[in-house]
Amino acid sequence: MNIHEYQGKEILRSYGVAVPNGKVAFSVDEAVEAAKSLGTEVNVVKAQIHAGGRGKAGGVKVAKSLDEVRTYADEILGKTLVTHQTGPEGKEVKRLLIEEGCDIKSEYYVGLVVDRATDRIVMMASEEGGTEIEEVAEETPEKIFKEVIDPVVGLMPYQARRLAFNINIPKDLVREAVKFMLGLYQVFADKDCSIAEINPLVTTGDGKVMALDAKLNFDSNALYRQKAILEYRDLDEEDPKEIEASKYDLSYISLDGNIGCMVNGAGLAMATMDIIKHYNGDPANFLDVGGGATKEKVTEAFKIILSDENVKGIYVNIFGGIMKCDVIAEGVVAATKEVGLEIPLVVRLEGTNVDLGKKILEESGLDITAADSMADGAEKIVSLVKG
Ligand code: GDP
Ligand code: MN
Repeated sequence: MNIHEYQGKEILRSYGVAVPNGKVAFSVDEAVEAAKSLGTEVNVVKAQIHAGGRGKAGGVKVAKSLDEVRTYADEILGKTLVTHQTGPEGKEVKRLLIEEGCDIKSEYYVGLVVDRATDRIVMMASEEGGTEIEEVAEETPEKIFKEVIDPVVGLMPYQARRLAFNINIPKDLVREAVKFMLGLYQVFADKDCSIAEINPLVTTGDGKVMALDAKLNFDSNALYRQKAILEYRDLDEEDPKEIEASKYDLSYISLDGNIGCMVNGAGLAMATMDIIKHYNGDPANFLDVGGGATKEKVTEAFKIILSDENVKGIYVNIFGGIMKCDVIAEGVVAATKEVGLEIPLVVRLEGTNVDLGKKILEESGLDITAADSMADGAEKIVSLVKG
């Protein structure tokens, strides 16, 4: 799960990790009020969306007066920002962070990830702050320094010091930088983060080391024990279809293609997507209805697929084991009764209660193309969608 920059900074602040003073604003007036209450001469107006690259897209502006705060807030709020992380459709800005301006001396990068190669949390740091770390990794990988963290003892001060020296933090600020890194690690570990990225971390004219940007991602599987983090969820930033699916406990992820897929089991779902690709089609989603799905759950799943405007055809590929084919068939029929079906539907059923399932579909009067195998079904739906 993703949260906004201002929320991330709230968490960091509560751990004593240095961030500039700032306030969230939902309107232009609130933005001006926020700047007034900060009482600083220079303020930064920052778009709050769940995507990076806002600076280059015009979503971060330095305002030298309250009038400028008003002008920039008015300009950014409601604007659709297109950054390299939003996709071409962009994201509408509904919240702003008004933050006190700071006198930046140097920009650095500090990040934490869970590294699959070592099965450890790794802290990465670089002198090349402010730019995309992916670019640095590509072009000058020697400028990224890493420390693998032992989970029993956590990030050790000597490791943080080594990073600080390696990225050339000025000697008199190393203590501050070490404090920052240790605090950041504590947040990561306590809050079940999957990514923490501070880009840029800055040193300032008045001798501070602080986070100008903060991107925190959380492991969704840990949210059951992170109630406070769950409060930060902003549904405006999420795909409405994925939100709907999560209500019914369905594993659903939107994709770019036009063939909607309803499958049971994650492995079969992946195989189904592969075979659609094999026949030069493109899946519109990943959807695993799970093992013990009820008719209601299947109905909702099918409705979610049907609600996707990009979907030009649907492929139902079910191997009935614990899941019964008749339950799937009933769900498909119930959903199409509610919302209609104007696109091709290919169904491949196999396994428990397959005959009953087929009978239900036949008697429904729906225009269904039956498939004999997974490959046959994929080939049929691809050609129906293309045709
Ligand atoms: P991103 O583009 O979405 O990663 O947004 P950032 O929060 O990283 O902001 C982009 C850039 O704006 C930073 O790299 C800074 O150079 C600049 N910036 C952000 N906050 C301030 C500030 O308080 N003062 C000044 N002078 N520049 C800032
Ligand atoms: Mn940034």
